[in-house]
Amino acid sequence: MNEELLEKKEVVEHQKEKLEELDEMKSRFFTNISHEFRTPLTIISGMAAQIKNKPDKWLEKGPGMIEQNAQNLLRLINQILDLRKLESKELKANLVQGDVVKYLYYISESFQSYAEDNGLQLHFLTELNSLDMDYDPDKLLRIVTNLLSNGIKYTPDSGHIYFHIDQAEEDNQAFLKISVKDTGIGIAKEKLLHIFDRFYQVDDSTTRKGEGTGIGLTLTQELVKLMNGRIEAKSSVGQGTTMLVYLPITNEAPKTATIVPTMTVASNVQSESIDFLQNDAAYELLPIVLVVEDNRDVAQYLAACLEDRYQLEFAENGQEGIDTAFELVPDLIISDVMMPEKDGFELCNTLKSDERTSHIPIILLTAKADVDSRISGLKKGADAYLSKPFEQEELLVRLEQLLEIRRRLQEKYANPTELPSVFSDSQAVDNRNIEDAFIQKIIGIVHQNISDEHFGIAHLCRALGIGRTQLHHKIKALTGKSTSLYIRTIRLQEARRLLQTTDLNVSEIGYEVGFHSLAHFSRYYSEEFGEPPSRTRK
Ligand code: ADP
Repeated sequence: MNEELLEKKEVVEHQKEKLEELDEMKSRFFTNISHEFRTPLTIISGMAAQIKNKPDKWLEKGPGMIEQNAQNLLRLINQILDLRKLESKELKANLVQGDVVKYLYYISESFQSYAEDNGLQLHFLTELNSLDMDYDPDKLLRIVTNLLSNGIKYTPDSGHIYFHIDQAEEDNQAFLKISVKDTGIGIAKEKLLHIFDRFYQVDDSTTRKGEGTGIGLTLTQELVKLMNGRIEAKSSVGQGTTMLVYLPITNEAPKTATIVPTMTVASNVQSESIDFLQNDAAYELLPIVLVVEDNRDVAQYLAACLEDRYQLEFAENGQEGIDTAFELVPDLIISDVMMPEKDGFELCNTLKSDERTSHIPIILLTAKADVDSRISGLKKGADAYLSKPFEQEELLVRLEQLLEIRRRLQEKYANPTELPSVFSDSQAVDNRNIEDAFIQKIIGIVHQNISDEHFGIAHLCRALGIGRTQLHHKIKALTGKSTSLYIRTIRLQEARRLLQTTDLNVSEIGYEVGFHSLAHFSRYYSEEFGEPPSRTRK
């Protein structure tokens, strides 16, 4: 009896594990699906507002973007509903008889520009000129759309997708053989078994390329089964993946003329490249905002929201965002969380711990509105968190708030003598006093060279190991002053201290802090403190 009980216990535990696994997958699915919903919703509601507010600018482009994103939503909802219907056996095949090769060719044609947009070449290859057989146009379209979309999604730039049509025979039954082969990232052997499982995703991290829900292939397999066919996957990591679909050839359904597929391929409407460069001088004075976002529609929407008030720069993934931030040292960064290469958290982490960029406020944009990722974002140093869909007003207010905090910071740093000393503190420098330490370092370097009249920007850059532009942006952000003005302020502050604490005369002090002309010294001193050095002396 004991043994029997033990055995039962094991079975129950195994079932429990299985259930927990499924539960976890389901909750991931809901997170993903909410991401998939929120992104198009952001664009739909945001663009509608843009059209209302600035019809002259967006009336032409806006509706296309809305339509496209509404279709994406619809496709998603259909997928979910189909899955339910398939499970409850409600979905039936609607067969017609016609030339399936031509139909598949049309489908591949409608994918050409989508593939090209993603830097890929799509090749349509067929061993058959035509083949009359029974097929369900709608379901076949969904099967092929899923396979081609996956191929495109999981193949890096300048790869190839081969869409190959052939005929095969097994046990006296003829089959149509459709193969979609890509030269993409591939799937590891142990994972290949699971890709047809519901909600399964090989890579469920936030850095995976593209979006997804993990139901595409489940649905594809169910649809293939519905047509009495079967699907197989072959893959090797780094080499690519081949998906094979076998559909039995029958000729019983009513004949039809060739059907042209009605497509809703994700973003097959060419998004215009983002080109908002303007050249007037006023524009140059606007704060620089770097937008890091892999979804072009969202990037466009952000551009529409911000272009009147900010100079915009764009990066398409986390790595590019990090590189651009180091190069430009923007005033503010808005970044998506889920992105290829590096995600928004990594971007935050990297930029916040580097002294060139640590001061830049970062807003993370995400669809994951759950508390966990909000907290982990803030822990990594994000200054604000905005969940999609968001309103233009909400975004603008956030940006203004962060820039206002920086203006207060400038007041603090513009006056270098009033800085608290952080060097006495031997603890690891935390994020807030990276800025203090940086300013202290500059002050230290200038002080070491203070009587050298020729000490200037170039020397300071060399001493800090930072490029001229980067240093300029950083100092400007922290102090509101240009680098050379800031160096002068440090010299003048020291002069003021010497005037108040020593018996040296004015021209000696001027000389001591690097002004070899007494006239220059007096003039700059008066500009800085509103009184001539002789008055400070008294
Ligand atoms: P998703 O919506 O995540 O793309 P699918 O059900 O379509 O879901 O695919 C399941 C998983 O199988 C994907 O998350 C991906 O990891 C993997 N996969 C599917 N097709 C390919 C492919 N052509 N190359 C590499 N991996 C793929």
